[in-house]
Amino acid sequence: MKDCIFCKIVRNEIPSYTVYEDDIVKAFLDISQGTPGHTLVIPKKHIANIFEYDEELASEVFARIPKIARAVKASNPDIKGMNILNNNGQVAYQSVFHSHFHLVPRYTSNDDFKMIFKDNSNKYSPDQLKAIQESIEQHMGD
Ligand code: 5GP
Ligand code: ZN
Repeated sequence: MKDCIFCKIVRNEIPSYTVYEDDIVKAFLDISQGTPGHTLVIPKKHIANIFEYDEELASEVFARIPKIARAVKASNPDIKGMNILNNNGQVAYQSVFHSHFHLVPRYTSNDDFKMIFKDNSNKYSPDQLKAIQESIEQHMGD
């Protein structure tokens, strides 16, 4: 896509610190470096978000992530773990609308990455959970 910043990175029109690429994906350092080594993995094909993957592209992209994650982890002995996240939609903090996966190396539980979601389990009855389950199930394959 012409004006997409990540498509420009794929075409090398914008420089990036690329750590891996092949015909399917490109992996490069996130400019924000939330923690040292913070890396983005993107499909070279422009798709906006997770909802646009077909099974083939999903298989191809996801298949490459563990290898890239292992290389990032091996690059620094202080990396103890890694969060992998994928934001979809502005409401979910997506700011670049070319699908990407964040590989965020973790050094301590007190480093610069935070992920917070509430435990609302006490607010749901089994019937409410069943209704949610069925609604999702009904849309499988949409
Ligand atoms: P999102 O908020 O959409 O999940 O993540 C977008 C990420 O892209 C942000 O973490 C941001 O730092 C990164 N980013 C935005 N523009 C550029 C750029 O030009 N180069 C690189 N390497 N990363 C970028
Ligand atoms: Zn794009």
